[in-house]
Amino acid sequence: MGLNLRKAIYKHFAQGIPSVYTIDKENCIRIKKGAGKKKKPCGLCEKVCPADAVNFNQEDELVEIDAGAIILATGYDLFDPSGLSNYGYGRIKNVVVSLECERLMSASGPTGGHLERPSDGRLAKRVGFIQCVGSRDLRNRDYCSGFCCMHSIKEAILTREHDAESEVYIFYNDLRAMGKGFHEYRKRGENQYGIKYIKARVGEITQDEEENPIVWYEDIKEGKVKHLTLDMAVLATASVPSEGGKELTTVLGVDLDEHGFIRSEMIHPLSTSVPGIFLCGACQGPIDIPESVTQASGAAAFAAEIMQAANVKEY
Ligand SMILES: Cc1cc2nc3c(=O)[nH]c(=O)nc-3n(C[C@H](O)[C@H](O)[C@H](O)COP(=O)(O)OP(=O)(O)OC[C@H]3O[C@@H](n4cnc5c(N)ncnc54)[C@H](O)[C@@H]3O)c2cc1C
Ligand code: SF4
Ligand code: SF4
Repeated sequence: MGLNLRKAIYKHFAQGIPSVYTIDKENCIRIKKGAGKKKKPCGLCEKVCPADAVNFNQEDELVEIDAGAIILATGYDLFDPSGLSNYGYGRIKNVVVSLECERLMSASGPTGGHLERPSDGRLAKRVGFIQCVGSRDLRNRDYCSGFCCMHSIKEAILTREHDAESEVYIFYNDLRAMGKGFHEYRKRGENQYGIKYIKARVGEITQDEEENPIVWYEDIKEGKVKHLTLDMAVLATASVPSEGGKELTTVLGVDLDEHGFIRSEMIHPLSTSVPGIFLCGACQGPIDIPESVTQASGAAAFAAEIMQAANVKEY
């Protein structure tokens, strides 16, 4: 999320599998300044690597694979809320998006798991989660992004777990807690962690002289316009079709739905419009991790079926 600096040799994602380091050619001293020189600069990572795994001469390769089946799992991207000027994202420093909030609360994240305000590094004590940002909105994405109600409840619970004195608010249209144990989780958030759920339409976020976001909202139950001053506001942004999937879907010729996600067949939900090409996860629309994993197992089974029929021994 661009919240921190990293080294020129790095792991793209701490928990990624396989756990492989890569070197950023644009910023590696050896690669940038050593070209054509006899005495190469730096090279420290090579000297200290006990597995002797660093190879500066490695080049990108195009690998051709004769595949019997393909599974698309290109996922989703997140809506950029900078265009919604009423929410102040990009202008008000203490308005962040959910994924930034996740990074701030992550033990391996830029602040070691502390919910620090971008403006001054102070711990955020009053945190408000604004739902349906860009979703269920005819001017942007008219569909529901499916998982944001639940991840905001999770982030609110985590905020309280990190700091028992914090206050957390969720401004929602409808709380869509559809799934096994989801309703109970929502209730636990309220009863055990003191989350305050406010049924509201947020019209605008402004800030005071201390850069505290002020959320202006219509309290739907009372029919009144109110405001609340926070330390940090977190926008639950819409899930949108992945950029990374666009070129691939064009090359493969699979159909997309009206929103730009990959179209799945009604009675064969893991199949695309092209025989032998399957899909799983959020590339066909917003779904959560358990559902993505379930689909992945199903898609793998379909691919294996084709390979077995073709008597392919290794896959
Ligand atoms: C803030 C936030 C918090 C969330 N918290 C939870 C949670 O607590 N629990 C939960 O169940 N769900 C949660 N979700 C939802 C979860 O992120 C999704 O369900 C899940 O990521 C979907 O997995 P996926 O593998 O289909 O897609 P992704 O996670 O999007 O993975 C797709 C991968 O494909 C790669 N890719 C794209 N195009 C290409 C290409 N052409 N070639 C090669 N690779 C490509 C992408 O770089 C990406 O790594 C959360 C979502 C958000 C936004
Ligand atoms: S050669 Fe130097 S700059 Fe390049 S990745 Fe290794 S340690 Fe970093
Ligand atoms: S899951 Fe919740 S926050 Fe996300 S779009 Fe649907 S109703 Fe709005």
